[in-house]
Amino acid sequence: MEKIDILSFDLNELSLFLEELKQPRFRAKQIFKWLHSGVENFDQMTDIPKSFRELLKEKCYIATAEIIKKYVSKIDGTVKYVYKLYDGEYIESVLMKYKHGYTVCISTQVGCRMGCSFCASGIDGLFRNLTPSEMLAQILKAETDNDIRVSNVVMMGMGEPLDNFDNSVKFLKLVSSDNGINIGLRHISLSTSGVVSGIKKLAEYNFPITLSISLHAPFDTIRNDMMKVNKSWNISELLDACKEYQKVTTRRISFEYALIEGVNDSDECADKLSQILKGIMCHVNLIPANPVKENSFKKPNLAKIHAFQKRLTYNGLNATVRRTLGADIDASCGQLRRKAKEV
Ligand code: SAH
Ligand code: SF4
Repeated sequence: MEKIDILSFDLNELSLFLEELKQPRFRAKQIFKWLHSGVENFDQMTDIPKSFRELLKEKCYIATAEIIKKYVSKIDGTVKYVYKLYDGEYIESVLMKYKHGYTVCISTQVGCRMGCSFCASGIDGLFRNLTPSEMLAQILKAETDNDIRVSNVVMMGMGEPLDNFDNSVKFLKLVSSDNGINIGLRHISLSTSGVVSGIKKLAEYNFPITLSISLHAPFDTIRNDMMKVNKSWNISELLDACKEYQKVTTRRISFEYALIEGVNDSDECADKLSQILKGIMCHVNLIPANPVKENSFKKPNLAKIHAFQKRLTYNGLNATVRRTLGADIDASCGQLRRKAKEV
């Protein structure tokens, strides 16, 4: 019999499940709270009768993220984790400390099938989707390992969250549940490479999260070479979906733009970017591209990056260069997992 993934249940589902097992009503909240406090086995639930804990063990499992590697930055305390999942797969998470609190960057898939040319996560394709509980476990582990409370989450690790739509949505509901870790949706960002069908579906939920679009180029010719997804939905279709999304949610959209020397860092790109984003309430995050071992691209020098930003600002766009955290433990998205697996 396949065991039940109990940490992926919302409170309602857990109540129904416990009802079937003839448990009193208050039990659901009690167990939900235990699960979301980071316990990794049922025996840690000390106020649950032992016989019932045994029954739970028989029927269910608690998803966990086991620390395999941990790199701590000596510069700013950023922690990069490689976690092992129940089936031996590896994923990555990053814990960052900002003035306003702790942010965790979580993975949503093992690998990724989007195949962006500059990204290490997609090199070996997609292995599998993460369950909502495995997304949650990354935050719980960061909290228990450091004895802290996490206040912000970014879905920007390995994987494309909108290619794992239902589990990502369920995760958003669980992580913001007031009986759980209760991180407000306003403190969560979801980053997508531009899966337009997913953006449209997400708009229907009207979550007050921040939608982050990995745009990276203002011309289809350039974006086609960088991101396969642009061949399914081009820039104009993507921006139309963003406008629709914004109409519904009234939330500011964040555009990610990884600067690669000689590819997307020209004045012409800056001007075109300013032009196509007109009319969208947004913020542009400029990211100096992280070198990937398997690739040969380079980031522009700092002067060039700041010139690009200035040009956007001059054109009326709200643009900043993203601060690099954990520079001494640097490895771009997907690289730590490859290193840990020695592929
Ligand atoms: N799949 C989603 C979220 C995970 S990737 C997405 O693509 O948006 C998180 C961010 O890292 C994306 O903006 C992605 O474009 C960026 N990224 C990936 N590889 C990078 C690299 N080598 N340098 C800089 N940014 C990179
Ligand atoms: Fe996947 Fe995002 Fe990497 Fe593209 S950038 S391969 S969508 S994880």
